[in-house]
Amino acid sequence: MEYLDVWWEMSLLYLQHTRDAINAQCEGREAWQIIMVTVGVMIICNWLYHQLFLHELGLFERFKLSFFRMLRRLPVIGTKIKEELEKTKAAITSDMFPLPDGDVYNTRLPETGIPKDELLNLVKTKYKSMEKIDWKGGRLSGAVYNCGAEHESLMERIYGIFVGDNLLHPDVFPGTRKMEAEVVAMCCNFFHGGPDACGTMTSGGTESILMACKAYRERAYKHGIKTPQILAPISGHAAFAKAAKYFKMRYVEIPVDPVTKLINIPAMRRKINKNTCMLVVSAPSFPYGVIEQVEEVAKLGKYYNIPVHVDACMGGFIIPFAKKAGMDLPPMDFAVDGVTSISADAHKYGLAPKGNSIVVYKNADYRMGQFYINTDWCGGVYASPAVGGTRSGAIIATCWATMMYVGLDGYQENAVKIIKTRQYVEECVRKMPGLTVQGKPDVNILSISSNTFDIYRLGSALTKKGWHMFTVQYPAGVNFCVTKMHTLPGVAEGFVKDLEECTAEIMKDPKAPAEGIAAIYGMAESIPDRSMVAEFVQGYLEAYYSTI
Ligand SMILES: *Cc1c(COP(=O)(O)O)cnc(C)c1O
Repeated sequence: MEYLDVWWEMSLLYLQHTRDAINAQCEGREAWQIIMVTVGVMIICNWLYHQLFLHELGLFERFKLSFFRMLRRLPVIGTKIKEELEKTKAAITSDMFPLPDGDVYNTRLPETGIPKDELLNLVKTKYKSMEKIDWKGGRLSGAVYNCGAEHESLMERIYGIFVGDNLLHPDVFPGTRKMEAEVVAMCCNFFHGGPDACGTMTSGGTESILMACKAYRERAYKHGIKTPQILAPISGHAAFAKAAKYFKMRYVEIPVDPVTKLINIPAMRRKINKNTCMLVVSAPSFPYGVIEQVEEVAKLGKYYNIPVHVDACMGGFIIPFAKKAGMDLPPMDFAVDGVTSISADAHKYGLAPKGNSIVVYKNADYRMGQFYINTDWCGGVYASPAVGGTRSGAIIATCWATMMYVGLDGYQENAVKIIKTRQYVEECVRKMPGLTVQGKPDVNILSISSNTFDIYRLGSALTKKGWHMFTVQYPAGVNFCVTKMHTLPGVAEGFVKDLEECTAEIMKDPKAPAEGIAAIYGMAESIPDRSMVAEFVQGYLEAYYSTI
């Protein structure tokens, strides 16, 4: 008691002291001055708080940006940089999408419509024939996940039956509405969702991710969070950063272990704060193909009451089925307590045509924020579940038909074949001198790097042999994403053989510099001023729509 009394006395004394000090400061000043200074200090504190804690970009990022901006404004260096930039951009624009000799762009409507047979002929001889990479023969990493004459002709017919369906009006098109509900329900089922599990279909993985982020943003707003933060490992798909950009959220990145490529969980825990609106974990991650620690992240989510999104765009239609077939993989779905949503691409290993993905939630409360509802529009009361307004029922019908046609047995067979093929290629790569594998891949993706030579050279060498890989950076790598086409007899063996030859050739002179596109990739990775790289990439996007 005595101790408390002393404490109390001292507090009063300090209070008195502070009061005297402030009064002394204000002595001789007019009331308006005191008010102005107070308001000024408040505004500055508020501004500082926003700059430090609520800004989209970190302090260091912003400092870097302004530094390079200043550099590029300098008289001599700035002009030189600008010239080089324009030159490279022009080169990208002109070389990116060459037309076959003698071909030109149509930039006007034909005066009279083209007859059917002529049009089909035109499509085949002038457009479809432009494809140079033999993706049906399995020369492509990822990108197309299913093909074959039988599936193609089935899809044609299903699409044809529902070609007019517009799911903005589900009452008019009850059949495709039922199909969409069934696709979502089937996914909830194989992801071990409870009776409350629900979801929607979307146009792709990106939209599924955008929607989950938006749903959690609205949830955070409801809880009084003004600048919701997404916490994602650096291995998370770019769509999460895109969502942060679109929806004015803050994107906070967590490092992954340099060797295992798994999330640094203590780092994730340290970054959690009252603004955190969701945690992200991938199954598997796009850059490395490892299934991240869903259980550990879900535990954090549960402890701090933060939603956990599992990005299973890649593995959603593989992992549950490989497990059912007896393969030993870690849990990644609603069976893990704490997981609140999952994205899975039906247009990847769901084997459906492009434009099909799903996002599922533990219950309707989590999904709610995804919906858009406008009760006051003069065009009528308006509501849409995801980004699109008008949505194609035909695309959804192709997804439904694919899932029904493939069935549990089909997905199991495909999952096992995909994983076994990846294992086979991985074992071969690990034996090849000069090559290394990032982390310990679990599913379909194999990220190949080298400590001995510039790995982008391998990418170029494989391109010369007709293979199309995709490249990753930080660290540089060439990724092989196994699809159904690679599981056909001889395809993976052919890849391994070409990989061996290319690597052996490069190893004859491992220190040789990269050339062509490989050099551009290397340069792009090493330029510290990312705004410059962004300008090149802008050239690429502009070239996409170029008709000259
Ligand atoms: C493909 C993919 C996405 C994005 O999907 P899109 O269909 O390309 O929009 C997101 N996350 C992962 C892990 C993916 O593999």
